[in-house]
Amino acid sequence: MAYTPMIQQYLSIKAQYKDAFLFFRLGDFYEMFFEDAKRASKELEITLTSRDGGGNERIPMCGVPYHSASAYINQLIEKGYKIAICEQMEDPKVTKGMVRREVVQLITPGTIMEGKTLSEKQNNFIVALSMFDDRSYGLAMNDLTTGENRLTIVSGDWDEVIREIDAVDAREVVVPPDLPEQHAKRMRQQLDITLSVEAETDVHESFRPLTEKLDDDSSILAFGRLLNYLLRTQKRSLDHLQPVEVVEPNQYMKMDVHSKRNLELVETIRNKGKKGSLLWLLDETATAMGARKLKQWIERPLVSRQAIAERLQVVAALKDQFFQREALREELKGVYDLERLAGRVAFGNVNARDLVQLKKSLQRVPGIVAVVNELEELPVQERFGRLELCESLVALLEAGIADDPPLSVKDGGLIKDGYNRQLDEYREAARNGKDWIAALQMREREETGIKSLKVGFNKVFGYYIEVTKANLGQIPEGRYERKQTLTNAERYVTPELKEKEVLILEAEEKMLDLEYELFLAIREQVKTYIPDLQLLAKQIAELDVLQGFAVVSEERQYCCPEFSRDREIMIRGGRHPVVEKVLDDGTYVANNFEMNRERNMLLITGPNMAGKSTYMRQLALTAVMMQVGCFVPAAEARLPIFDQVFTRIGAADDLVGGQSTFMVEMLETKDALAKATEHSLILLDEIGRGTSTYDGIALAQAIIEHIHDTIKATTLFSTHYHELTKLGKTLDRLVNVHVGAMEDEGRIVFLHKVIEGAADESYGIHVAQLAELPDEVIARARVILKELETSSQAAASVQDRRSEERDLGKQLSFFVRDSGGHPKRKAMSEKEGQLIRKLQTIDLMELTPLEAMNKLYELQKMVDEKG
Ligand code: ADP
Ligand code: MG
Repeated sequence: MAYTPMIQQYLSIKAQYKDAFLFFRLGDFYEMFFEDAKRASKELEITLTSRDGGGNERIPMCGVPYHSASAYINQLIEKGYKIAICEQMEDPKVTKGMVRREVVQLITPGTIMEGKTLSEKQNNFIVALSMFDDRSYGLAMNDLTTGENRLTIVSGDWDEVIREIDAVDAREVVVPPDLPEQHAKRMRQQLDITLSVEAETDVHESFRPLTEKLDDDSSILAFGRLLNYLLRTQKRSLDHLQPVEVVEPNQYMKMDVHSKRNLELVETIRNKGKKGSLLWLLDETATAMGARKLKQWIERPLVSRQAIAERLQVVAALKDQFFQREALREELKGVYDLERLAGRVAFGNVNARDLVQLKKSLQRVPGIVAVVNELEELPVQERFGRLELCESLVALLEAGIADDPPLSVKDGGLIKDGYNRQLDEYREAARNGKDWIAALQMREREETGIKSLKVGFNKVFGYYIEVTKANLGQIPEGRYERKQTLTNAERYVTPELKEKEVLILEAEEKMLDLEYELFLAIREQVKTYIPDLQLLAKQIAELDVLQGFAVVSEERQYCCPEFSRDREIMIRGGRHPVVEKVLDDGTYVANNFEMNRERNMLLITGPNMAGKSTYMRQLALTAVMMQVGCFVPAAEARLPIFDQVFTRIGAADDLVGGQSTFMVEMLETKDALAKATEHSLILLDEIGRGTSTYDGIALAQAIIEHIHDTIKATTLFSTHYHELTKLGKTLDRLVNVHVGAMEDEGRIVFLHKVIEGAADESYGIHVAQLAELPDEVIARARVILKELETSSQAAASVQDRRSEERDLGKQLSFFVRDSGGHPKRKAMSEKEGQLIRKLQTIDLMELTPLEAMNKLYELQKMVDEKG
């Protein structure tokens, strides 16, 4: 049996949108059929029904009401699905035969314009890519809500592409049809992302102005793919798309994804939340636009001295002029999200309330300009003293849009009195009619003597006179015509009332139509201001970020950094900004940095928990803050501009747990070694820790030597391998420092103070004591430590002193228990010494049971040979 025409229509549309849910408009519902219905009913927890639609079986079906569809759409988007919205293109009441239906928009995770999946403080990026060869990719990025477009060229392998996409938190990626399947698979596995395909890459003539800054064809390919995908899915004009901004790698401090993550710039490692990140610390923005801009800035610190200085100048001015700053903050708080409003204007889905917000926001601008001009610094005035006021737009909105309009744009109440003569006349007519009705009620009450008589209105019956059952007797014969009977009242009409009703309803209908028309016209006019609004939004966002910097800098007593020449670093009273804020009790111990071309590597030793990692990150964060244009957490600071920052954490120290292996640690280190220059900052935190001791020391030493001799980057290297401190003697520019700790009545006290020279003792036992391990264990560990220390003097530097070994071996001591169970020493032979050393080098954590057996066998053999 054949399907009904409607189901056939459904199937032919669905065939074009195989990877999306098709929301098929049927009256007041969006219906889904077949597989879509089964899946949607599960995902949305709505009832699955079925209907007869021809065919041999009933067709599974489910639906959501048109007016509450957006909540369901959001739910599906959040799960990464796409939704094709299919509308009725003709009025079913007047159409003979079947109504024409079309998909008017494909909503996808990367293109959603409203709803709670969008975070106001974060961009929602969609990325499109083009491949030139397997080492070079073009990545075009767009935030449809704000119209921002960006282009980055990634040189590197597919991993690099995945990292870049991950770094911008993109929700959706648009790929060419010929993307190799293994690439697609990796992307799906590693990123929680929606994959879409677009073949078309030609940029239509009308969008050429956006691509002016793209100088090579390959970048245009990526942007073209993105643009065509947006046009194909959104099916509208997209007037708000902004010119593509090319992210030139040389304009920004380079930081790969690992470094950003390790420094916790925008989210913490532990729970991936904003709280505890640098972004969290610095976010004193007053607007959503500012918050988004701040995140972008933190992810891309500048390298141009002048551009950084310009930002610092504004921060300095606002930091010092408290009253102006507070006044500015007040104004900014009244500014809504102009950027996203502009996007929605272009999309054609702003309502009158949005336009009122737009007006109110624009009305704040003169106040902002006034405050800026009160600031004494000329450069600040030059940069922010002449904002686009959009005065004619404000005038239009002020004259046209009612002050407190309803959400709906079709029910009237949108347009102000006095804006349009015709509308005023309709309103007058409707008002007169209503006055007449109010008067009618009074007159009828008087003449019939029924005090409770009232004139009412409902949509089905129109106007009526209502009298309660108890009073029916008082109505003079033939005065009214009966219209409707209720349980305890009767409703009537009169010919006069009918006549007025027609007048009123006519006027109201015309009024609504006209209001809607006027509203659309205003909305069209607002469209022409989109570029102005976007420019204004950008300026306000920047000003907002900078005032936020001023707030934080004052509150936390940061200082204005100076630029140093010749790679000098001088920091007095420096702090790790986030740790300091989290402690927030004044117990943070400030530290200094003194580095320069002749002293550009610090080897940092000290017990666990002393503050090595904190000290290292402090320097990187200080550099990032300065290059973002913020004051820095120090009493005084002079720094060079770094071209790149690398942060590597030894595998065993990696908090992400399990995910990271020694191999990853080495891959990351390779990256740093391959890319760093002498103007880079490298932090290597306990590198080599993920492997066995000698391996680790050897690698660490080789890495340090390579950086020292070849790369010459400013480097901080923390280690718990005390053996490495001897490098201070052989490497000219390497200096030993340690984070001090003190023993106080057998307990360890962390001073968190960085002191010149190498740390000299291991405090592991004290830490164990702090952790309240049983006293016997602690006491026993102290005894063993003593013994080990004595014997390891021989084990250390095995390589260097092979010749001395024989003599030493004879002196080694070995402890056995005496009859009372107490350890006692006994002289050891050379063989015994070797045996002991062998034992010491075994890293139990690294052995499989089988390897352990082998080792035991080996040891036993040694003993036997000796025998
Ligand atoms: P390490 O890397 O040496 O093991 P961390 O840098 O991880 O030590 O620091 C351990 C803890 O010590 C931090 O979580 C912090 O609470 C505290 N700490 C570190 N440096 C300081 C400091 N300068 N002042 C106060 N507390 C600090
Ligand atoms: Mg550490």
